Amino acid sequence: METKSHELFAKACQLIPGGVNSPVRACKNVDSKPLFIQKASGATITDVDGNDYIDFVLSWGPMILGHAHPKVTAAIQAAAANGTSYGAPCEAEVELASLVCSALPTVEMARMVNSGTEATMSALRLGRAYTKRNKLVKFIGCYHGHADPFLAQAGSGLATLAIPGTPGVPAEVVSATLLAPYNDLDAVRELFKKHPNEIAAVIVEPMAANMGLVLPKEGFLEGLRALTHEYGALLIFDEVITGFRAAFGGAQARLKIDPDLTTFGKIIGGGLPVGAFGGKKEIMEQVAPQGAVYQAGTLSGNPLAMAAGLATLTELKSKDYDSLEKRTQNFAQELLAIFKTKGLPVQVPTIASMFSIFFTDEPVVDFKSAQTADQKLFTTFYKQMRAQGIYLAPSSFETGMVSFCHTDEDFEKTLACAQKVQF
Ligand SMILES: *Cc1c(COP(=O)(O)O)cnc(C)c1O
Repeated sequence: METKSHELFAKACQLIPGGVNSPVRACKNVDSKPLFIQKASGATITDVDGNDYIDFVLSWGPMILGHAHPKVTAAIQAAAANGTSYGAPCEAEVELASLVCSALPTVEMARMVNSGTEATMSALRLGRAYTKRNKLVKFIGCYHGHADPFLAQAGSGLATLAIPGTPGVPAEVVSATLLAPYNDLDAVRELFKKHPNEIAAVIVEPMAANMGLVLPKEGFLEGLRALTHEYGALLIFDEVITGFRAAFGGAQARLKIDPDLTTFGKIIGGGLPVGAFGGKKEIMEQVAPQGAVYQAGTLSGNPLAMAAGLATLTELKSKDYDSLEKRTQNFAQELLAIFKTKGLPVQVPTIASMFSIFFTDEPVVDFKSAQTADQKLFTTFYKQMRAQGIYLAPSSFETGMVSFCHTDEDFEKTLACAQKVQF
């Protein structure tokens, strides 16, 4: 029964465009309506009708410790008792910046913002100012938030809703955005040859997670590092998803590649609205008020948000990422085996605590191959899993997330449900 969710959604549709405050959660392309959530704890999310689900969305990534982690909740409550916003510096900002800088050696200084979108748009502005160039290279199917310059063939909701560009973004703005297929180093090399002194930065998700999960081929990111060095452009790693998920030190720690700038979001806020961008001191010192590149925020460094981020990262520091990865991989392999025995065309890529499901025979290496996935099969799978109490991202252009709270029983139940799906 989804009665209350449906009632709330009908009301919401009169008041909020599409009934939601972020498009993908409307569940439109999987021919479903959204669940309205009442509460969540650990790996379980409960809707307003009282149905429990095993949650593989995790608020799209932030809840790696599980929902309502006692230490995170206590930190937020303690902070709230001292006032919810000062518009002046607080100690937790320094502690969180210190933790981030110690976790990622390439981040010598960081600036806190309120979302991943703010982080990437600010990093781009800084990169443009630092290099005194305007052009940006971005990869088709990568998503970097909804700021204008990134809304060209982006992933996430734009891929799900098949919106290649979006009305309201002036052509002049995206004309400085040069596009290349993910994993295609030659295409990037061509762009640099064509515009040798104009490219300010290359921005990339070091593990692409907004067109489903697409892993970098060996040499791809190393090649980007070499090309950006050669042409005097900056390399920006968008680690909004991979930061503190691919490893505590992000994808860069795992892949041993040093970007010039890194953007964060999701996990860094422990479920509160936080983002950050950071990098080499020499570049970051250009941010106002130390430098001239303007960037600001009334609620930036908010004490509640800093407390949640700090409690989350502190807890994560001692977590066993390797064992979470092994458990996620076993789960993905068993899921793959179930699909195979059903004779389905399928790919189930996985790394760290992420996985995704593409119903296609083609190995997925970029957006074009991701698009070969059969959306009808995915919709069938999604709906029947949800009916059995498994909450998956409502699109094959999103990535499944696993938390430290998911138990072996959760995985077993999910696999048993997958086994029962009738295609
Ligand atoms: C989610 C995401 C963003 C945008 O973050 P918001 O907090 O939604 O603005 C940017 N980059 C990547 C890689 C993301 O996954």
